[in-house]
Amino acid sequence: MAVTPELELIADADARASAYLATLQQRPPFPDQTAHDGLTVFAEPLPEQGHDATDTLRLLDVHGSPATTASNGPRYFGFVIGAALPAAAAAERLMLAWDQCASSYDNSPVAATVEKVAGAWLLDVLDLPRESGVGFGTSATACTLTCLSAARRSLLARHGWDFDRDGLHGAPQIRVVVPDTVHITVKKALRLLGFGMAHLVVAPTDPQGRIDPARLPALDDRTILCLQAGEVNTGEFDPFIPLIKAAHDAGAWVHVDGAFGLWARASSRRVLTDGVEQADSWTTDGHKWLNTPYDGAVAICRDAEALAGAMNADAAYSMASKDAQKNLTLEFSRRARGIPIWAALRTLGRKGVAELVDRHCDEAAWLADRLRSTGFDVLNRVVLNQVLLRFEDDEVTMRLRQHVLASEAGWFGTTIWQGRSAFRISISSWRTQHEDVVRLANAFGQAAEDRSLR
Ligand SMILES: *Cc1c(COP(=O)(O)O)cnc(C)c1O
Repeated sequence: MAVTPELELIADADARASAYLATLQQRPPFPDQTAHDGLTVFAEPLPEQGHDATDTLRLLDVHGSPATTASNGPRYFGFVIGAALPAAAAAERLMLAWDQCASSYDNSPVAATVEKVAGAWLLDVLDLPRESGVGFGTSATACTLTCLSAARRSLLARHGWDFDRDGLHGAPQIRVVVPDTVHITVKKALRLLGFGMAHLVVAPTDPQGRIDPARLPALDDRTILCLQAGEVNTGEFDPFIPLIKAAHDAGAWVHVDGAFGLWARASSRRVLTDGVEQADSWTTDGHKWLNTPYDGAVAICRDAEALAGAMNADAAYSMASKDAQKNLTLEFSRRARGIPIWAALRTLGRKGVAELVDRHCDEAAWLADRLRSTGFDVLNRVVLNQVLLRFEDDEVTMRLRQHVLASEAGWFGTTIWQGRSAFRISISSWRTQHEDVVRLANAFGQAAEDRSLR
């Protein structure tokens, strides 16, 4: 094989990527000041004359790599980030060489075929209705947007309204009920769709952030009810069985935001999700708990025709079947983001997915127990991989967090839970081992003992 400049460049990128991964274990979870300062080299004007590609790659690695958060590493506990499984990341690298426009079979036979398998496997591993349509979108945000637009269009069609032709001009009013703990991105999707934040009907939740069925607002056949599998602070689940029954008795549509929590269904924690399969649409991410690279998310709609109808992008020059991804997602030209998801599922298998989720939940429970015995307030029940913590008052809580971050035992973010400052620890990286969680717990223990922090 002749070594061309292109192959040399790709080999250089691969070598740099390997060197980065080899040092991931030692990298600080959050970049230091020197790394931040190094970013000033990027503030250059657009060059008139292009630079050498090797030099561009070098600049990105030398000054970019140190300024990454080590979210692909073992000690990143922020948000619900997840790392990238080697199998998924490797599939992604091969895909870059293919550079496929994965809109339909015509544009990429391999992408259409493998994404179809990935869709079927997702319905299998998450045990959702097998006839559902599955769209691979960029994010849970985008997938929520597609599911909710399918929901509204379908409810309007049931009232004889042709949304595609007439839009919302004089249309019957569709109401949306959301939990008061609804994720900001579900609100964003609703806002973009024109529902209006002042018109959302808010369902009160219990101290764990779950909708209380006894206080569920009235529903009818012009209502979309949004539920959660995995509340972003507590990791809790709405009680699906009574809520979905009430919704369907009233003729409402139920959408479930399961960005990370839906994966509990593939584990021994499955009971938390009981009844979720009765909903009408679901969103989940690959790039969080399944540990695939960004951007990989999934829109699932029980009525496959409803999703395909809402997302249709057929044109005279580009006709495709209703299961073509361009007709199930927002994008026309798109990356085959179902392929890394396929690679993750094929490599883990049903058993590997269950073990990944269970191991993280076990670690979260262990951490919560340890910290409780060290004097921390654990604010949630810790049914999943999220631990919500606080120590004494708001100020001490924040000071202890800074102390632990400075120790580089881990990075994690803050939140406000029921009016009080707290921090959130999420265990969602395949790389995180028990020793990493022990190190974090020890750093918390030392901070709690340090009187100067009070
Ligand atoms: C992360 C998250 C989202 C948004 O997912 P993106 O893929 O980042 O758009 C929605 N809901 C919950 C509960 C989340 O944790």
